[in-house]
Amino acid sequence: IPTERVRNFCIISHVDHGKSTLADRMLEMTGAARPGEREAQSLDSLAVERSRGITIKAQTVSLLHEDEEGERWLLNLIDTPGHVDFSYEVSRSLAACQGALLLVDSTKGVQAQTVANFWLAFEQSIEIVPVINKVDLPHANVEGTRAQMRAVFDEKDALPISAKTGQGCGALFPALLRSVPPPPGRRDAPLRLLLFDSWYDDYRGVLCLVQVLDGTLALGSQIVSAASAKTYAVQQIELMRPAGPVPLPALAAGQVACVALGMKHIQEASVGDTFSDPAAPQPALPGFQKPQPMVFAGMYPLEGEGFDALQHAMSRFLLKDGSVTVEPESSPTLGQGLRCGFLGLLHLEVVQQRLQQEHDMEVLLTSPTVPLRATLKDGSQLEVRSPEALAQLKLEDALVSLNEPLVKVTILSPSEYVGGLITLCEESGGQLLSQSFLSAEHAMLQYSLPLAEIATEFHDRLKTLSSGYASFDYEPHGEQPADVVPLGLHVNKRPVGALTRIVRSSKATDFGRAMVQTLKEEMDRTVHDIVIQATVGSRVVARETVRAVRKNVLAKCYGGDISRKKKLLEKQKAGKKRASLHVGDVAIPHEAFVKVLAPS
Ligand code: GDP
Ligand code: MG
Repeated sequence: IPTERVRNFCIISHVDHGKSTLADRMLEMTGAARPGEREAQSLDSLAVERSRGITIKAQTVSLLHEDEEGERWLLNLIDTPGHVDFSYEVSRSLAACQGALLLVDSTKGVQAQTVANFWLAFEQSIEIVPVINKVDLPHANVEGTRAQMRAVFDEKDALPISAKTGQGCGALFPALLRSVPPPPGRRDAPLRLLLFDSWYDDYRGVLCLVQVLDGTLALGSQIVSAASAKTYAVQQIELMRPAGPVPLPALAAGQVACVALGMKHIQEASVGDTFSDPAAPQPALPGFQKPQPMVFAGMYPLEGEGFDALQHAMSRFLLKDGSVTVEPESSPTLGQGLRCGFLGLLHLEVVQQRLQQEHDMEVLLTSPTVPLRATLKDGSQLEVRSPEALAQLKLEDALVSLNEPLVKVTILSPSEYVGGLITLCEESGGQLLSQSFLSAEHAMLQYSLPLAEIATEFHDRLKTLSSGYASFDYEPHGEQPADVVPLGLHVNKRPVGALTRIVRSSKATDFGRAMVQTLKEEMDRTVHDIVIQATVGSRVVARETVRAVRKNVLAKCYGGDISRKKKLLEKQKAGKKRASLHVGDVAIPHEAFVKVLAPS
């Protein structure tokens, strides 16, 4: 099929607006899947994705479409991850597209991920085809949704469809062919290949999804990576057809396929890397970067198997997800563990869940910490990735300055909740960037906020304040001087390192009170008094004593709404009763640790 009749496109939508359903509908319309097979939701493969209803790893499928004149077209549907934790992967997948279907649920209207992903696409000059979904539902508000799309994206002629019933879907392909240009590549130029996704296949090792930007890729030829300068032989080229892969002898400019290059580790397959002919090496695409971890946490084995089992599970997991960083860490109370870096909080949760589902490994995560950029008195700079490391630097009085990452948060919400959400953002140290109304009932707020605030309870409070109606998304937005301190916990004057956390100075006392209170409620009484103190440096900010009397009959009460995270932790500890951890001669029940570590 000539390049003029190739179209590369993706679907942009907020979670649950119908992206997977529409993808399967398009598969069916091109004769790829029979009706009734759609429940399989072919594009979502990971168990975690299915259970959470989100797309994490981008996958791609090549469709053959025949138009009214009987012309055949090759349509590559490039699946992009919907969440900004993976925004680097989103933008690389977008780099392989010239068009995007912008899908909005007519019963929900425009939401935060729609806006965030729209801007990523807009910045890359991708043609947008606006689509309004779920028009079959009785409470669909097509005109209201259209007005919102006009307000945010300046898109007027959105196509009303139902991905579920197929209503209106016939107009999609003609609109795509009309609005989206063919890929710009030239077949006679030197070879340039963009790697936009990769994964680890248990049987075949690392597989890469690539788009030929220029030239022709031939089976058996040698190609060189711009990122690593390593050379690979092209062992396999496969068109990703819905019914399964189809081997190809070559791939021309503009086309998309899965290639096997004999890579041993997923880390070799950097998303965004460019490959070319070693005889005519080409530079990487601008903007190429390795994804940077945004959140760090200590990971410790929760069940009895211990550190070896954790390390084994993690090393197998790293074959599949090269974006988690891992360093050894040890804690006097929790023993040996790993300090892991994640792309964001969702990523952290996904990793924790996949370790459990795919490797049967339950882990304890210490409180999430954002990377702080420290300048030291000796002039050097370093990244602080743990509360203990910050405490150490403060102790040595080595710091000149400390910077924390900021994020730009986009919040979409029914207007009635805006007041509460503004208060939430301001309490979280936010600076208002913009406020607008997409309609009388629908508002958009943008704030610059410390990433550390998002890393705790922001999401849960946003959902509670808006009765679940507000949505939010965030992207990196520079940094600012960090007014934070390490908040430590002492039991009978001995530090419990694993419970140290980094908090805003102004909140240290409140957090300290909450921590000592939680720990007190969870501790078993003994024949001696136990003194629990929260400290900032040498200053005690909160203190409680577990009195040496008979059994504690304190009723445990949970105030307000229990966060998702807490529920997860509840579930984790519902298993067997685990051994206590010892600090000096005091035993702290494992449950107490879990409670104190839950973001409060
Ligand atoms: P995704 O998260 O964007 O991939 O959304 P899904 O495709 O998983 O759809 C989310 C839910 O909306 C599922 O329960 C679908 O069955 C439902 N859904 C998707 N499209 C339509 C539609 O056009 N009409 C109706 N009534 N439901 C739909
Ligand atoms: Mg989906």
